[in-house]
Amino acid sequence: EDTPLVSRRFVNIEHPERGDITKLSSKIRVLQWNILSQSLGESVDNFVACPESALEWRRRRQQLSEEIVRYQPDIICLQEVDHFNYFQKTLSTQGFKGIFFPKPDSPCIYIKDNNGPDGCAIFYKEDRFDLIRSENRILEVWTVQSNQVGVLAILKELESGQELCVATTHLKARSGALLSTLRNEQGKDLLDFVQANAEQRPVILCGDFNAEPIEPIYSTVLGHDLLRLGSAYRYPSGQEPAYTTWKIREEGEVRQSIDYIFYSEEHFQVDALLQFPDGEEIGEGRVPSFRYPSDHFSLVCDLTLVRTNENET
Ligand code: NDP
Ligand code: CA
Repeated sequence: EDTPLVSRRFVNIEHPERGDITKLSSKIRVLQWNILSQSLGESVDNFVACPESALEWRRRRQQLSEEIVRYQPDIICLQEVDHFNYFQKTLSTQGFKGIFFPKPDSPCIYIKDNNGPDGCAIFYKEDRFDLIRSENRILEVWTVQSNQVGVLAILKELESGQELCVATTHLKARSGALLSTLRNEQGKDLLDFVQANAEQRPVILCGDFNAEPIEPIYSTVLGHDLLRLGSAYRYPSGQEPAYTTWKIREEGEVRQSIDYIFYSEEHFQVDALLQFPDGEEIGEGRVPSFRYPSDHFSLVCDLTLVRTNENET
């Protein structure tokens, strides 16, 4: 019953090439995670190597909270949240406040005994940030609303007085050329939404983009000429990790890198990244399992707000 969670380590990132910078804040630890909706996980996903009892909500909720709290994040972005009230209650005892926006036609609501629609949530540490305002968006594809959403918070860091924009999303799932085009269109709408609200503020954009780095949406995000985003997990190798999700369905094993933490490169420096457990540590049945409560791993990074000499001139 009290099986420990899979073990993971942080690596520190060195920046020898970086010239004169002024640190505007202490580190901001960001946690990004598709937590696996309880309704979908129990009935739609069909994780054939995962024992049913590992998916019981009472067990899972304990492990979900533990995985979040043990890394002591300052900002949390979650997808597939179909128990927002639970997280709001639990995380408030740890000093967090949260916002939530459900998908307009969540597949969860068609499942027997569901707990409501799933959606995206942002939590922030109240002793570090004030919420200036929050915004929600139903992502549009060629001006038509889709079933995917974006959630955004303008936060003010109390220590520095600096405002920043945090946004999260969960793009359309499944593979195929048409769906990859759809994700790219959803992503463009999301970037417009972020740009319009962030204005000149530093940006942190996290999510389950359901797209590997070869998909158009990845280049669309990194190529945005105003936001100028980088991907935190490209450090230190220059490449995205081999996987952020690793599961076994009836059709076989699925091992993909589809979750990201993007940040505006002129405003932040990446100082540490939480590594993913290796295959042996994860175990043969992959995840979810008795040792990990979602089919996606959490992404955790330390970002520091910086001012470069370049910005000043
Ligand atoms: P998505 O395609 O975005 O997927 C919804 C969820 O399914 C995601 O959370 C996704 O997780 C998960 N998923 C992805 N691949 C698989 C897989 N192979 N097996 C099981 N689950 C998977 O759906 P939409 O939000 O666009 O909603 C459309 C869906 O809603 C339809 O597919 C339909 O099933 C359902 N629906 C049902 C209705 C009904 O009457 N029964 C009516 C309307 C909708 P992840 O992102 O982690 O991959
Ligand atoms: Ca899922």
